[in-house]
This record gives sequence, C-alpha cells and structure tokens, in this order.
Amino acid sequence: MKKRFWSLLLLAAALALLAGCRGGESSGVSDSAGGAGVSSQGASAAQPTAAPTPSPTPEAETDPYAAAAGYREENAERYADYAAQNPGLAAQQVVSYVNIGLDRPFYTEVETIADPDNLLVLCNKYHQLPDGYEPADLVQISSQYSNGGKTLYLRAEAAAAFERLCAGAAAEGYTILGQSGYRSYAYQDQIYNNYVARDGQAAADTYSARPGFSEHQTGLAMDICNGALSYTDFGQTAEYAWAKEHLAEYGFVLHYLPGTEQITGYMTEEWHIRYVGTETAAEIARLGITLDEYCASYLN
Ligand SMILES: [Zn+2]
Repeated sequence: MKKRFWSLLLLAAALALLAGCRGGESSGVSDSAGGAGVSSQGASAAQPTAAPTPSPTPEAETDPYAAAAGYREENAERYADYAAQNPGLAAQQVVSYVNIGLDRPFYTEVETIADPDNLLVLCNKYHQLPDGYEPADLVQISSQYSNGGKTLYLRAEAAAAFERLCAGAAAEGYTILGQSGYRSYAYQDQIYNNYVARDGQAAADTYSARPGFSEHQTGLAMDICNGALSYTDFGQTAEYAWAKEHLAEYGFVLHYLPGTEQITGYMTEEWHIRYVGTETAAEIARLGITLDEYCASYLN
C-alpha cells in the first residue's frame, strides 16, 4: 500500500512539473509574439497577472530567414523578393546572396573597402579598394617558387605561407609555382582594358577584374601553375587535385570554384588561390562556401 502511495505522489509531482514546463513554454511564445514590449523573463515574472495577450504573429516569427547565419533585419524585404525571383534556394543561400548584394547587378552600389589591410578583406564586384591602395608589406616570393623565375610579390604573411605551400607540395612530389601575385591598380587597368579591347566589356567582366576590384591588388592572391602546363590548365593537373586537399592547411582557399560563377561574378579559376589564414581556410572548407558568402554571413 505504501508503495502505491509513493508512486501516486511521484505521478502527481511529474504532472505538476509537466504543467509548469508547458506554462513556461507558452509564456515564452507570447513574450516574443508580444514584440518590443516586455520580453525579459524577469519582467514577466514580476508581473504574473499582466501576461501579454497573444497578438497576430509579427514578421520575426514567420520570417523563414531569421535563423540563417548573417541574417540582417534591414534586408528582410530583399530576402523575400530575392527568394521569390529565385525559387529553390535554401534560406541560408538567400540570406548570404542578398548580403553579398547579388540581388543587384554587379558593380552597382559599390562600397569602398574601409580596412584593406585586413587579412580577411573581401574585394569583389561590390567592394572596391581605396584609390591608390598598395599594401605596405609586400615581399618578393623566392624565385624557386615562381614560374620562370618571374618577380612576384605577396604580402609578407601570405608570401611565407605560399612558400610553405610550394615546399609542402614539392615534398610530396608535386610542383606548385606562382604565375601572378600582387598587381597594382595601374597594371590591372592595363590588363583589363586590353581584354575589353579584345573581347568587349561584357565578356571581359566574366574573367577579368576592373581596376580597383582585383583580389590581386590586395597582395593576398596568387595564380598558380605546375610549370608544365599553362596556369589556365591547372584544373587538369595532379597538382590541382593535391591542392584542393591541402590548400587549407597552408591558409589558402580557392576563390573561384566551379559552380560559383553566379556568386563571385567570375568564371571558374582553378588556378587562383587566396590567403585567409589557416583557421578561416579550414572554416570555409568545412562550410563548403565561397569567401564571398563567408564574409557576407559568417564574419562579425
Ligand atoms: Zn587570379
């Protein structure tokens, strides 16, 4: 008999606990539904009788993008519009793409980069380097790691990492050499305008950056080759397969991967690597996204 009494008591206690939990839950919901008003638990506990009446659910509750990384309330309308125009995108893609600015044409609403010396600088078709920017810490790459002994520069940290990358590849029987590193505004201007004269601006824009918009001007990007084939054929080499597996260990990412043309605004460039540091490179590899998406939604 005593045993039965105790189990009844336990059951009653469990039911009471359950009721308590449900109460908490529903008050949580009405708290957030109540919006800007009293939302902290402390405040509602102090006034148990003044529980806010459930009102029609505000946007935050129904916004399918609110849980995505990098969600910005001020972009809520743009997310909805972009998703309507691009059905089939995941919520995270909608948020990241709009944050990048992809709901607007390339080279519109361009911002000048405030902190171009930051190792995680994003230089793309919406973010331009300041006039006359030149990194202060450019160093020359050891000529044994440049194709044909070309004079190539990268910023100090990226240069050291690049030499480690080349040495690491060599230790495993692969040849990775630099083809093009830092490029000044004036040089990029010359390259770009030559392409425009040859192929027209629309075509040139798919493979060449306008001056001030090239990642090469940051001193953190390098085009690589294996010394046997043209750098543009790097994607067909055994070195490319090796690089895909190992770049992150040296702090580099491939910026313009196949399938990301609509995100970066550039055609695939298997030869173009960008230094971001080992931690960020590992994180970008883990997420399987572009540097643009990473900067737009995972930074800050
Ligand atoms: Zn490049």
